[in-house]
Amino acid sequence: MVIENFERLVELNSQTRFMSLYFDYMAQNINPSSFVSNRAHFLDTSDSTVFFDTSMREEIRGIPDHIRPQVAPNIFYNKLRTVNCEKVFYTDGSNINESTGFGIFNQNITASYKLSDPASVYVAELAAIQYTLEIIETLPKDHYFIVTDSLSSIEALRAMKPGKYPPYFLGKTREHLRTLSGRSYSISLVWVPSHCSIPGNEKADSLAKVGALEGDIYERPICFNEFFSISRQKTLESWQTSWTNDELGRWLHAIIPKVSTKPWFKGMNVSRDFIRVMSRLMSNHYTFNAHLRRIGLVESNLCTCGDGYQDIEHVVWSCVEYRDARSKLLESLRARGRPPEVPVRDVLASRDSSYMLLIYQFLKHIRIQV
Ligand SMILES: [Zn+2]
Repeated sequence: MVIENFERLVELNSQTRFMSLYFDYMAQNINPSSFVSNRAHFLDTSDSTVFFDTSMREEIRGIPDHIRPQVAPNIFYNKLRTVNCEKVFYTDGSNINESTGFGIFNQNITASYKLSDPASVYVAELAAIQYTLEIIETLPKDHYFIVTDSLSSIEALRAMKPGKYPPYFLGKTREHLRTLSGRSYSISLVWVPSHCSIPGNEKADSLAKVGALEGDIYERPICFNEFFSISRQKTLESWQTSWTNDELGRWLHAIIPKVSTKPWFKGMNVSRDFIRVMSRLMSNHYTFNAHLRRIGLVESNLCTCGDGYQDIEHVVWSCVEYRDARSKLLESLRARGRPPEVPVRDVLASRDSSYMLLIYQFLKHIRIQV
């Protein structure tokens, strides 16, 4: 109805500002094929013969990432050592060269498929599990194991309530699990960490890449919410274009040339004050005369030492007033085998948290409120 109204406005050559919304929408060629709510399929699976095993999460907790490939295969092997490997199916989803697909590996059966766009890796992971159930139902009644590295898939399948926009495969797969359970099949969904040299998982990963690149299409209805990622992508692209070409904020642009919805300190274990101080340095808005002069708060942009602009580079690397504090900073850098006098802007751009921390400590030491 909304589109029909817009079409009438196009005929009337309407100039309202909402028309760009319509043209943007039509340009994206969005044709969702599924409007069906999956909510009805969220039923209790607690008394069924469907099992969820995410125990490996606890078992590898605290093991550093680079050691995991050495220990994870053994932990996994012990978990399934009594299971006939013909009953074990490894599934994986993958996105490569803007194509999405999934792969399934089993001793006797392998599969690789592509999903039509738009498709997320998450949907591909669910599609792989769904397709595996379609294989299993053609096999004799038994206890089968589906191994996936997608924790979000397992958690969504296990959840008692659907999310805001449950993907098509979520409802479909839950229904399928219930049906198989009713027909005396047992299914265990087992989580394994990805990129940990677990052979079956690695093979499924390769098959998923093959599927994404050259597999046949695995047909599915596409929900309207799957198109959201296109809008998200387009918004990021147009933000990137204006950030690249704009004339303002060039100091920050030199530090963070690529736009992101994640803040620069994401994943750093640092204090709130550190984030505050570094954000001020990145924005080039701080309480040194070089900036205060720009906004008309002081007469001169020179340093009180009389030797140059009072900007962050001057304060950290050359101002004579902070010679003592600086020798401590240089000593710490030497002790850590780091080069001295790297321009602060380059340190910020590198997001080298230990170097940034030393500069932060220097600023605290000289009691300058940035
Ligand atoms: Zn100075």
